[in-house]
Amino acid sequence: MRFFDLHCDTVSTQVARSGGKVRLNSNQGHLDLKRLQKSGSLAQVFAAFLPTYDAASEVGITAKPQELFDQIYTCYQKELRTNKELLAPALSGRDILKNDKAGHISAILSIEDCVLLDGDLHKIAALYKKGVRVMTLTWNYENSLGYPASPIPADMERGLKPFGKAAVQKMQELGILVDVSHLSDGGFYDVAELSREAHIPFAATHSCARSLCQHPRNLTDDMLRIIGETGSVCGINFNAYFLNGLSSNYTKIDDIVQCARYIRDKAGIDALALGSDFDGIDSTLEFGDCAGLPRLADALAMYFPSEEVEKICWKNALRVFTEAAK
Ligand SMILES: [Zn+2]
Repeated sequence: MRFFDLHCDTVSTQVARSGGKVRLNSNQGHLDLKRLQKSGSLAQVFAAFLPTYDAASEVGITAKPQELFDQIYTCYQKELRTNKELLAPALSGRDILKNDKAGHISAILSIEDCVLLDGDLHKIAALYKKGVRVMTLTWNYENSLGYPASPIPADMERGLKPFGKAAVQKMQELGILVDVSHLSDGGFYDVAELSREAHIPFAATHSCARSLCQHPRNLTDDMLRIIGETGSVCGINFNAYFLNGLSSNYTKIDDIVQCARYIRDKAGIDALALGSDFDGIDSTLEFGDCAGLPRLADALAMYFPSEEVEKICWKNALRVFTEAAK
């Protein structure tokens, strides 16, 4: 089986934060290139995680968002150069197919939290030029685009700010996949409307189903239905807290399979993808790490025909990335 994982934090939280000590090729985290290769990886999205000002100090980050992006970007480029026999950058769906033919796993660069845009549309084009092809609009804090998912209903209903709407349109125009994971419900509906108008799909790169697990980071049945209707995808997050609630921090393979079956029922098979959140979550995974992804595919095959397992593991994500990123 091949895999297209829509979200991991490895470059940000492992490699860049270690000051170069931890390397992408081989490390002790959830994901490295040796294990990715063994698992059959087709494409991996690497997030440049840029916490909002208030949140940065909580995780020991003193650099401003733009500086932090530059640090992570330098580190990402260095890893691409060092590992060019295994990994190649992908800026479009066509690049992924080309890289695969050459025997390379595709690396896709995303930013998680658009805080560094700071209300400036020109910065989107600058990031696009650097190869960013996925943008997660917010993390867990307000920024110039909008508001995060929240347990407070009035906060959750807040939509995108005017700059947020203009930014989404700019991303769609340039060819950047818009990511609604972490966004408020009101923001989700604004992105969905812009997506319908532009006929361009979007993604919730690392989220699960709220009816199965009451967490504001998860998507309601109505939001899942809209993801299906717009030809978009939801990448299932492997965080136990988003799958089975707050009772344990252990992710069973069956939790992910159940979530996939639920999303299939609400949104349709074409809406399913994987968004591991490797090295961004601290859950213990039944299948260990990225090398265990084939075990997940085997478990999915108990409930889904093989062509649908392929859709979940890579084909849907490739379709949406091909349509949205260029
Ligand atoms: Zn995240």
